[in-house]
Amino acid sequence: MRYAILADIHGNLEAFTAVLNDIEKREGFDIMWCLGDVVGYGPDPHACIELLLQHEHICVAGNHDWAAIDRLDTFDFNFFAHEAAAWTALQLTDRDINYLDALPECVIERDFTLVHGSPRSPLLEYILSPSVAEENFKFFNTGFCLVGHSHLPCIFEEADNGIIEAQFENESIWPLGEHRLIINPGGVGQPRDGDPRASYAILDSSRMLITHYRVKYDVESTQKKMQEAGLPSFLIERLGRGC
Ligand code: ZN
Repeated sequence: MRYAILADIHGNLEAFTAVLNDIEKREGFDIMWCLGDVVGYGPDPHACIELLLQHEHICVAGNHDWAAIDRLDTFDFNFFAHEAAAWTALQLTDRDINYLDALPECVIERDFTLVHGSPRSPLLEYILSPSVAEENFKFFNTGFCLVGHSHLPCIFEEADNGIIEAQFENESIWPLGEHRLIINPGGVGQPRDGDPRASYAILDSSRMLITHYRVKYDVESTQKKMQEAGLPSFLIERLGRGC
């Protein structure tokens, strides 16, 4: 089975479409695992949910998904995220709202735990350091945990002598086996590692390998739509920088 691992689509239809086209060129996928934040920030929240629904998938809830339907307080959002959440709420249909509302916080599939932020705090916690990763290894029982939220592609490995943090580089292939891992495929719709290309991963369960990919998308089109929608300029500009 081939699993497409996508996180943080964030209403960016151009990025989401580019990722799906890229996967199609690479033997396609059987099922998509989506790690939350389908909406928020970007100009196409409704279209992104529609596109997701056209594919066999499992999705967990992200903080922006629930902020947009008023299920999560946005007190810890910065001004721009708050503005975008309010705008996003106005774009959603009843079906979109029901879909987001029904998303689980955590899903366990085979030897994988799927959450948006962290297994300890699925909606809110960022895993950005080996020390935070170390604590979070105690909060799931599977061999592997897939997370999003930080929009930074990386892997934390529970090695015999402690936690090892590694960048999940473009086209790097990781064998899944010896040690437990926390894996972040990076963000589809709003990368933050300085590379504006959309970021995702493919899990090949028959060979037990996970591979990271970057793909260019039409950033200018997304930015133009955001301008027309009146979304904050900081959010528009950061797409071009990828940070
Ligand atoms: Zn996000």
